[in-house]
Amino acid sequence: MSYPYQLKSFDDYKQAWQHSVTDPEGFWANVADHFYWRRKWDKVLEWDFKQPEVKWFTGAKMNITENCLDRHLGTLGNQPAIIWEPNDPEERHRVLTYRELYNKVCQFANVLKNNGVKKGDRICIYMGMIPELAIAVLACARIGAIHSVVFGGFSAQSIADRIQDAQASLVITCDGAFRGAKDIPLKSVIDDALMACPSVKKVIVCTRTRTPVSMLKGRDVWWEDEIKAVETQGNPPVPAEEMDAEDMLFILYTSGSTGKPKGVVHTCAGYMVYANYTFINTFQYKPGQVYFCTADIGWITGHSYIVYGPLSAGATTLMFEGVPTYPDAGRFWDIVDKFRVNILYTAPTAIRSLMGFGLGPVNHKDLSSLTTLGTVGEPINEEAWHWYKDQIGKGRCPITDTWWQTETGGVMIAPIAGITPEKPGYATLPLPGIQPVLVDENGQEITGNGVNGNLCIKFPWPGMIRTTYGDHERCRTTYFSTYENLYFTGDGCLRDEDGYYRITGRVDDVLNVSGHRIGTAEVENAINMHAGVVESAVVGYPHDIKGQGIYAFVISELHVKDPELTKKDIMQTVARIIGPIAKPDKIQFVSGLPKTRSGKIMRRILRKIAEGELDNLGDTTTLLDPAVVEEIKRNRI
Ligand code: ATP
Ligand code: MG
Repeated sequence: MSYPYQLKSFDDYKQAWQHSVTDPEGFWANVADHFYWRRKWDKVLEWDFKQPEVKWFTGAKMNITENCLDRHLGTLGNQPAIIWEPNDPEERHRVLTYRELYNKVCQFANVLKNNGVKKGDRICIYMGMIPELAIAVLACARIGAIHSVVFGGFSAQSIADRIQDAQASLVITCDGAFRGAKDIPLKSVIDDALMACPSVKKVIVCTRTRTPVSMLKGRDVWWEDEIKAVETQGNPPVPAEEMDAEDMLFILYTSGSTGKPKGVVHTCAGYMVYANYTFINTFQYKPGQVYFCTADIGWITGHSYIVYGPLSAGATTLMFEGVPTYPDAGRFWDIVDKFRVNILYTAPTAIRSLMGFGLGPVNHKDLSSLTTLGTVGEPINEEAWHWYKDQIGKGRCPITDTWWQTETGGVMIAPIAGITPEKPGYATLPLPGIQPVLVDENGQEITGNGVNGNLCIKFPWPGMIRTTYGDHERCRTTYFSTYENLYFTGDGCLRDEDGYYRITGRVDDVLNVSGHRIGTAEVENAINMHAGVVESAVVGYPHDIKGQGIYAFVISELHVKDPELTKKDIMQTVARIIGPIAKPDKIQFVSGLPKTRSGKIMRRILRKIAEGELDNLGDTTTLLDPAVVEEIKRNRI
């Protein structure tokens, strides 16, 4: 496969960005021309941010799986589409070529049809990271069913909420999942969830751990039995359902770090074009390379950059079942070594946690295949950025720090790897097609460089959210009503003297200390530079004199002998790096931080604790480890 729209130089990037602003429809039509359409569009774009209503490629007919599978069979049929590395390094890995993946997707599409699934039905997928998860996702897309993947670590209550919200009619799950040293009993969690979900008529259970499961007659069936049934029917071919460009492709619930999760809706054509364009350009993927994204398919990162982006580009995508620290903290590096991985895409939280283990697990691993590194999910602090650059990339590999959201469908602001001059801690410049603006509290656009503000986007892009499922008003009020005619991201942002963008954290995480606006990410970045600090989270709390005081929760790798002295040392580091104004007023040492299951710190919970509102912590169902909250509450200062 060749990528005629892959950017080749910084000038090329600048020209493409300019073109995308002066003639957005022409720009995206040129990209879209390289896909397979049953029927091309009548109009590239119609939009109105007030409603909001955004339509890309209206009138076009297509199916995303024909672009991810069918069109590659002729040239790439024998190339690995998915390489799968199991949780246990002793177990054999699996490789699925494009042809094999295509066959399996068609088979499972038949299974879904045999179980009564029709175009437009919502299907909840709750599985571990095995190839069958990708197969299930693609099989839904093939027949026009709308998938809602729920991360295989959520509780029964969180699943029930999501199934009810989407009114899903069928669930695809596994008996269990292996994650590190743990077995997660997925089917049993589903059984609990389904007590509150009358919309679900069928459950398909794929075998993985073979833990005993209850199988309800008439409702629950085994994946493997259903496949056999399809084989006895002679594997009838499954032509892809012809989808309208704006038909729903999937619903995905946000991670819930700022409140109750929202069912973000993405549609077929725009999402496909955007996931593909951003994959090929951000990572500068070259045909034949092995690409490894460590996210779970339960998050948008996995949707766009394990499944749809790479497969639509005919790439080889590596899926890993386990966790970075099992059997030891060298696992990512073993995988890079074993499969000669070229591109690695992971999260700052993973990098920070691996840094805490020192260089032992990195040394003696052959990482020479790596050409490109990426991060996503949170601002990356400078120390972690340099560690990634020097210890993993050996100073040779560009890092692309990609800022984007579930709602944006794909990467929005990021260096084009190896092309955009990088700056640690900066997501740098917008991708072609993306028009960021910074606004002040009154919604006035802040122009010029060297400024701080709330990050908004003023023009539509193909991968953007269309609605929140079943509640369009929530979509309007959350994203399109704060500032007129702008999509509001909820993130604070700095545009520096060079016009480079740096995300400073959520807007409600911007502190106002004695009239100075300070981003939580800035303070955390400084604290993390202090020797021995593994990770930190900073929130504001009411302060009589300063308006807001700074409360820091700090994980330290060393045993802190004299906590009071260490606190003073940390304050000294912050004062040196940012200035005395940013010195935390309170520092609490903790053993862990409350995180969402996608690894994001839930600052809203810490804020409540800092404010002393211990009984009113809000929705905590998406927390990874609720026990740390109890510890933090107990030792509150
Ligand atoms: P919810 O919307 O329910 O609170 P969430 O925002 O955590 O959940 P996501 O869509 O996964 O769910 O996360 C998007 C957010 O992650 C962004 O708005 C931003 O705050 C943060 N983020 C992602 N990538 C980066 C990055 N490279 N740099 C800084 N922040 C990032
Ligand atoms: Mg969000």
